[in-house]
Amino acid sequence: MSSDCLFCKILAGEIPADLVYESDTAVAFRDINPQAPTHVLVIPRKHIATINDIEPDDQQIVGSLYTAAREIAAAAGIAEDGYRAVMNCNEGAGQSVFHIHLHVLGGRALGWPPG
Ligand code: AMP
Repeated sequence: MSSDCLFCKILAGEIPADLVYESDTAVAFRDINPQAPTHVLVIPRKHIATINDIEPDDQQIVGSLYTAAREIAAAAGIAEDGYRAVMNCNEGAGQSVFHIHLHVLGGRALGWPPG
């Protein structure tokens, strides 16, 4: 828990969120500013600021973000058409909340490369 972290406050129930998934290690909720018909953020319960801060002991936690993404995509009905699971690292890549989160985006055609 990091006291000044927005996503830690969501985990603590101090800020509301539209939760769609919970496990021992991960929680997912709808992005407040969705960029696709399905736009869900999957976060670890453990506060990890960026990809650069992931430790070897965090591998199971980080892996669990992807099993969550798989379940979320299946529940949203986008698994077969396709979806993107992407994590930005630091400002240069567009990271604005410094608690790692996997963006799960789908429900429309997604261009590549991203901007
Ligand atoms: P990033 O720019 O990769 O760090 O992504 C941060 C994401 O968090 C953005 O897509 C925001 O729209 C989203 N976001 C910010 N505040 C909230 C919130 N209170 N609830 C849900 N999503 C949020």
